[in-house]
Amino acid sequence: MKKNVILYGLAVLLLLGLTVRTARVPGEKKLARTEFLMDTIVNIVVFSRDRQVGEEALRLAFNEMERLEALLDRHLDTSDVAKINRAAGEAPVAVAGETLDVVRKSLQAGAQTGGAFDITVAPVLSLWGFGTDGEKVPSAEELAKALRLVDFQKVMVNETAGTVFLETKGSEIDLGGIAKGYIVDRAAEILLAQGVTSAYLDAGGDIRVIGTKPDGSPWRIGVRHPRNRRDVIAVIELTDCAIVTSGDYERFFVAGDVRYHHIIDPSTGYPAKGLASVTVVAPDAFTADALSTAGFVLGLEAAMDLIESMEDIEAIIVSEDGKVHVSSGLEGKVTILS
Ligand code: ADP
Ligand code: MG
Repeated sequence: MKKNVILYGLAVLLLLGLTVRTARVPGEKKLARTEFLMDTIVNIVVFSRDRQVGEEALRLAFNEMERLEALLDRHLDTSDVAKINRAAGEAPVAVAGETLDVVRKSLQAGAQTGGAFDITVAPVLSLWGFGTDGEKVPSAEELAKALRLVDFQKVMVNETAGTVFLETKGSEIDLGGIAKGYIVDRAAEILLAQGVTSAYLDAGGDIRVIGTKPDGSPWRIGVRHPRNRRDVIAVIELTDCAIVTSGDYERFFVAGDVRYHHIIDPSTGYPAKGLASVTVVAPDAFTADALSTAGFVLGLEAAMDLIESMEDIEAIIVSEDGKVHVSSGLEGKVTILS
């Protein structure tokens, strides 16, 4: 499973590598750094006139991403999220401002998507065991029991005290559907604060671009074909925004000819049906990450309705039958390749 993730990441790098190589402006240096973080390949490319400024910006951005991952990874015993989960039903837990921030925004995303995005799906995810040695299809009874613990409205954030409290014993939160987006945004903020005006950041398909390419042209981003790993299904030109994809091909297992993937419909406990991938374009990666996961759960019609109702948010949705659906604001701006 891990191998799949790595191959996917590499394919993204190759794709974007081709894109960036076309940009050659005298005096601009291209600086890049790649690391394995958040269970995926994270790649940042910065264009800078001053090599030292660019390198320092990269160093600070990666430091920040590592720091935030250590707070937000529920599988790490010392993380804020693990502490919150261990104290479920017992006591509020004092956490870092960033953790408070992600949890609060995640609850807003839950409300905004009618519960399609729900960070309390963790007990259900654990039953499925995606990405572990214990992958299996849970029994209906197991799922029903775990589902009783799922309700983002039972997560209490106390801004003044700086605490998060899970009201129900046994409940847990998982920020896997959102942490990458949040962390990519924070890294982008660091680059901006260091004076970087042209860069792209990619955390395994959670992409944010700063400014334009050094020659002033937009970044060309490829949307992966959900079934043919090596192919791109659409190409879009973007400046200063985020583009994030959720797909059923990133983490899944096959049992009895059925593909079970890691995006769970919180109303059933089963992987959401109907779509192969949802790509969302938004001003920031947090919004795009939440909406791509939620859109996947909502299905084509409800996802498009939600996207169309929001300003500055667009989507490219590939349904299970391979059809590509584009929101109205992107018509004429996307090249569909299949
Ligand atoms: P990826 O992490 O592969 O880029 P997503 O952003 O869609 O893709 O995140 C999927 C992850 O989100 C799952 O691995 C799980 O941790 C979490 N998750 C699954 N279903 C939901 C849901 N309905 N709401 C919120 N988070 C979810
Ligand atoms: Mg997501």
